Amino acid sequence: MAIPNPITSAETNYKDSTLVCSHLIRALRGQEAFSPSKHRETRAAVIFTGKDRKAEEYESTFTEISREWDVLKKRTITRGKETGAWLTILPTFVNGTELSSYEWRDAFLLRYSLSPLGLPLKCDGCGVDFSISHALKCKTGGLIILRHDEVTRELIELSTMALRPAAVRDEPLIITVPKQHPTRTNDPNSKNNPPVDIPSNDGDRGDILLRGMWKNQHETIIDIRVTDTDANAHKHQHPYAVLKKQEKEKRTKYLQPCLDQRRSFIPFVVSTDGLIGREGKSLLTRIAIRLAAKWEQPYSVVRGFVSARINLAILRATNLCIRGSRVPASKMSKRVQWQDGAGLGLFETV
Ligand SMILES: [Zn+2]
Repeated sequence: MAIPNPITSAETNYKDSTLVCSHLIRALRGQEAFSPSKHRETRAAVIFTGKDRKAEEYESTFTEISREWDVLKKRTITRGKETGAWLTILPTFVNGTELSSYEWRDAFLLRYSLSPLGLPLKCDGCGVDFSISHALKCKTGGLIILRHDEVTRELIELSTMALRPAAVRDEPLIITVPKQHPTRTNDPNSKNNPPVDIPSNDGDRGDILLRGMWKNQHETIIDIRVTDTDANAHKHQHPYAVLKKQEKEKRTKYLQPCLDQRRSFIPFVVSTDGLIGREGKSLLTRIAIRLAAKWEQPYSVVRGFVSARINLAILRATNLCIRGSRVPASKMSKRVQWQDGAGLGLFETV
C-alpha cells in the first residue's frame, strides 16, 4: 500500500521538518528578518530534495526485494504504481466508486501477483484447468465481450457528463468513403463509367462517437480494447509497448477513413489491471478538463476521479471474467426435476 513505517521514517521526517522550518526558526530567534517568500523557497527546496531522496531509496529497496521474484511477478508489481487510482478514492454509491468486498480483495491480491482465494479447478465454459491467465482470455460464454462493453459504457457515462447525452453515440459506422473517378459521367447507364465502391452499412464500427469534445462541430470516434499484457503473446514486451502496438494497429486501420469524414480517431487501449495507453490518457485528460470547468472543481481532483472511475470499471470487468459464470441461460437445463420432489411446490394448485 506504500504506507511508510512511522518507526523507520520518524528520524528522517524530523530532520526534514526542522529544515523546512529553518528560516522560521532563525527568524523567531531574532537571527534574521522573516521573509514569507524566503520561507516558501526554503520549504519548496527541502520538499523537492526530500522527494528525490525518497524515490531513490524506494527504487533501491524495490530492486533489492524484487531480485528473487520471477519476471511475471516483477512486471505485475511494477505496474502497480500506475494502476492504483482506485485505492485512493472514497467508495460511495452516489459517485459510482464502490467495489464489493470480493472485488476489492481479488483486485488487491492480483495487484501483488497473488492468487485470489476460492478459484474453481476447471473453467465452467470450456472445461480446461482454470487459471487467471485462462480466465482473462477464455471466449466461451461471452465474458470477454461483456468486459469490453462494460468499459465502453463507463467511458460513455463519463463522456456524457462532460458533454451532453445528444453529443455521445455508440457504435458509429466507420465508412470507407470511395473516391469518385474524375471521368465518371452523369449518365448512370454510360459504359464509360468505371465501377465505384458503394459505402455499406455493414462496415467496421467504432465503439463511441463524441461530438464537440475537442472543438465545436467536430466528431471523434473512440475504439476500445481491453488486453491482458501478461498473456503469452505479450509477456516478452514492456506492458506500455503492448498498449502502444495495439493503439498503432487500430490507428493504421481506422485513422484515414475517419479523417476522410472530417473526424478524428482515438484508440482507447487498456490492460486488464487498469494500465491505460497514451491516447486513452489524453481522452481522459480532456474529459477531466471539461468536467472540472463544469463542476467548478480543481482539475487535479477531477482527473483523479475520472481515472478512478475508469480504473474501477476495468477492475469490475476483469473480476467478472474471473468470478463470472460462462454458462449462458440458453444452455441451462429447463427440465423440471420431479424425481426427488424438489420444485413440486411451485406447480401446486389450490
Ligand atoms: Zn475456458
